Amino acid sequence: SDKFKGKTVLITAAGQGIGKATALAFARAGATVHATDINEKALDALANEPSISTRRLDVLDTAAVTLAAAEIGTVDILFNCAGFVHSGSILEMKDEDLDFAVDLNVRSMVRTIRAVLPGMIANGGGAIINMASVASSIKGVPNRFAYSVTKAAVIGLTKSVAADYVGQGIRCMAICPGTVESPSLEERMRSQGDYEAARAAFISRQPMGRLGTPEEIADLAVYLAGATYTTGQAYVIDGGWTN
Ligand code: NAD
Repeated sequence: SDKFKGKTVLITAAGQGIGKATALAFARAGATVHATDINEKALDALANEPSISTRRLDVLDTAAVTLAAAEIGTVDILFNCAGFVHSGSILEMKDEDLDFAVDLNVRSMVRTIRAVLPGMIANGGGAIINMASVASSIKGVPNRFAYSVTKAAVIGLTKSVAADYVGQGIRCMAICPGTVESPSLEERMRSQGDYEAARAAFISRQPMGRLGTPEEIADLAVYLAGATYTTGQAYVIDGGWTN
């Protein structure tokens, strides 16, 4: 399709999982995609896609984000996908885990939005899509304290940017998945010792009886990028978990 022909998309954490699937989906929809990740090796799998450029970008590094945005030029669609899941309750969490989660899951988005928003405004508008989770202000999920604090902040950040810039053609939306097949989820299931039991537990909380796929989340991101009458909303995509 050529729906997004001439549009430039910047994606963080595009090396694997949802970010990678979204890079491929935007490329299929005709966009020029800048797929970034801290893991250059993971990006290699996208390097041969004709409309995808890959580059190493650590979203914890403000100077690197600023430089990348300057080199890429005007961005029409920003997909902030980088995020990390810490396990544990408030009493189990280390302070440094919360600091890291805020830096990677929230401040990363502050960095990228600050870097691309002036160009978007000058260009007459743009769309910003932020990765949140149903584990946030939407649902209390056991054992996910630091993660849920930061993903709730992503929803607040999203609504604030949407409110401030709606008059300048900027739309800002959050995506809130349930549990999605991804390399990091595989790692989390393996690290619990009994892999099959961990997988069964994740699936049992999904009324659809299966986990989501990165491609299903990517479809929603592409849809929202073109959904020109919505802004400031958090879109739940969770197989019926919070219904
Ligand atoms: P993943 O966790 O498997 O991959 C994360 C990617 O982020 C990796 O490629 C990694 O190299 C990259 N990354 C880590 N630190 C980085 C940094 N400092 N700078 C740039 N990139 C960095 O992918 P996923 O599970 O699809 O998760 C992607 C996003 O979706 C995250 O924000 C996550 O919280 C969110 N999410 C995932 C699920 C799920 O079940 N998988 C559910 C809800 C929300």
